Amino acid sequence: MTSAAQAQPQAAPPASLQGAPAGPGPADAGSDLWQRFGLEAALAAALPDLIGLRRHLHAHPELSGQEQQTAALIAGELRALGWRVREAVGRTGVLAELGPEGPGVPLVALRVDMDALPVEERTGLAWASTHQGLMHACGHDLHSAVGLGVARLLAPLAAQLSGRIRLLFQPAEETAEGAAWMVADGAMEGVEALFGVHVFPSLAVGSIGVRTGSLTAAAGELEVEVLGEGGHGARPHQSTDAIWIAARVVSGLQEAISRRLDALHPVVVSFGRIEGGKAYNVIADHVRLLGTVRCLDLEVHARLPGWIEDTVQALCQGHGGQARVRYRCIAPPVKNDGRLTQLLAEAATDLLGRDQVIWLEQPSLGAEDFAQLQGDTPATMFRLGVAGPNGCTPLHSNSFDPDEGALAVGVQVLSLSLLRWIGQQAPAGAGPQP
Ligand SMILES: [Zn+2]
Ligand SMILES: [Zn+2]
Repeated sequence: MTSAAQAQPQAAPPASLQGAPAGPGPADAGSDLWQRFGLEAALAAALPDLIGLRRHLHAHPELSGQEQQTAALIAGELRALGWRVREAVGRTGVLAELGPEGPGVPLVALRVDMDALPVEERTGLAWASTHQGLMHACGHDLHSAVGLGVARLLAPLAAQLSGRIRLLFQPAEETAEGAAWMVADGAMEGVEALFGVHVFPSLAVGSIGVRTGSLTAAAGELEVEVLGEGGHGARPHQSTDAIWIAARVVSGLQEAISRRLDALHPVVVSFGRIEGGKAYNVIADHVRLLGTVRCLDLEVHARLPGWIEDTVQALCQGHGGQARVRYRCIAPPVKNDGRLTQLLAEAATDLLGRDQVIWLEQPSLGAEDFAQLQGDTPATMFRLGVAGPNGCTPLHSNSFDPDEGALAVGVQVLSLSLLRWIGQQAPAGAGPQP
């Protein structure tokens, strides 16, 4: 839905935008781009449409890897704006470009994600999910609308850009698969800098959170099969009790983490599922444990699969059983580049005010497959405040309802960051000019 007719925006762009400082200088080629290009007025004009789009996406959520309708809508919008669009990049992903092509042209990318979750919505909103059992409970509808907002604001500047901008609308973030699909289809080829955004219920709308270094954790999925030998429950000494050994694995792994790994590099292992056994009085010969693993340090992360395997094998063999251990890395940590984060923080400070740009002290043990996209490319992802006057329920909750005022904040921070990055790459005097 592109019509603004039904859209009823709840929030205007922050008033602080009115006072955004100009003051171009040789050290900051893009400090007044926002005003020179008239982006403030363009955003105000676009906002009703963007909120309408966000609500349409919210009402029509699609699961990871099945974002066909979402992708078709996004691709149509982008084409109408004059972006060069490629669909089916990473299955249902959409790639769009604006600005000059050819060798030597600086290339910067913005990634937003599109997928929803298997959650039954309970917000009671007029634009609540119309797809039973599915909900945009992680704000990816808002991310996609931010991406479309950036596309809309920057489209009229195409002829004036001295660098190229690539937008990546990514599928399947929730299953940590979509980034890898897009990379395999060449989405990151030639990209010199990458920006990303995620809504953040702990921050008030109008503010953003930034951080250099680790932003999210490395995450892995752990499956342990404990193999014992069945027998009569009355005579456990004649068998090898897989349930008893599994219990040793669950507690022993926690003890080993606290005694054998450096507490300054935290590691979390949580088992979320345990299955095994058949009857009251039959010793189980097989137990399966499924868990998630999180850590922040890349070196620790690299060693973890081998360390977990050795520890689990030792625990099982020490109690007469055996183990099969499978570890799948689902996402490395997101590592925010210092210079790029600074660029984004300065753009946000100029737009929102210094108090609205919050340097986060701690990374999150959540995972984000943005890390798969970034690889060795300098990248930064920031937290977009979505808490309204009454706060905001957590991500993935069935009552998650981000304040839509965040949409304008995301669009302006990212649009200006992209323009400034291009301005910084261009030879002196050759930056984007009105
Ligand atoms: Zn999520
Ligand atoms: Zn998310």
